[in-house]
Amino acid sequence: MKTKTRPVPPPHAKRSVKELLAPLTEAVVLGQNLFPAPLEFTDSRGHTTRLPRYLFTGPGDRGSFLRVGIFAGVHGDESSGVEAAVELIRRLHLNPEPARGYELFIYPVCNPWGYERDARWLKSGGDMNREFWRGSAEPEVLLLEGQLMRLAFDGIIALHTDDTSTGLYGFAKGHQLTRHVLEPSLEAASRFLPRNFDRSIDNFHANNGVIEQGYSGILGAPPTQKPKPFEIVFETPHHAPQELQVEAHIAAVESILGNFRAMIAEAQNI
Ligand SMILES: [Zn+2]
Repeated sequence: MKTKTRPVPPPHAKRSVKELLAPLTEAVVLGQNLFPAPLEFTDSRGHTTRLPRYLFTGPGDRGSFLRVGIFAGVHGDESSGVEAAVELIRRLHLNPEPARGYELFIYPVCNPWGYERDARWLKSGGDMNREFWRGSAEPEVLLLEGQLMRLAFDGIIALHTDDTSTGLYGFAKGHQLTRHVLEPSLEAASRFLPRNFDRSIDNFHANNGVIEQGYSGILGAPPTQKPKPFEIVFETPHHAPQELQVEAHIAAVESILGNFRAMIAEAQNI
């Protein structure tokens, strides 16, 4: 008789969220439009973990601000998106122009346990990006669902990496014009890394790196939210040099913000 397989022990922490966020400390102290507003969640054993969140208010007329949520580190082993989110905040502090007209809510590490262990999974062993809006009991998911519900974002950007892709691509969901926002962002990011032009990516039909289907349970707007926000999942090739992935993520986010702003302005003039 076979002995029962022992569950794989959780990996040890390899890096720290606190160290990751250290470069922002000075920016926060100096900045007038950057605010740290961390969240907390408590797991079933009563252990409380901090989930970092930063608010950044861009220049412009606050009365017409668009509210965008930027989420990274949903999968803890995809660190280029995490580093890009931190670097984006640092750069916006130096030059807020790319955030003109926006109120940004940036969640650089959505899965702190996974990030510290360089692991894709949540502490429970689940995949966070299959748990949204399905009655999940994962505390990280409940916390972020509360944010998505309460803040009713005009746009949602999630930064990921894909270890099976050699190029950049993205998922466009929500608002029907989302692909027109995603498309130029892939072009902007292709200054740093090539785009994936395959007709099939991740088993989905793709068009010049744009996929208009997706997995269910991914981090996104509440299904009931109307009007639908634009929702973009941006993917860099996981095995490309880290610094180029970081630059590609940042170029994509800045392009998305610029194009979405222009699209909204145009729509209001019609
Ligand atoms: Zn991912």
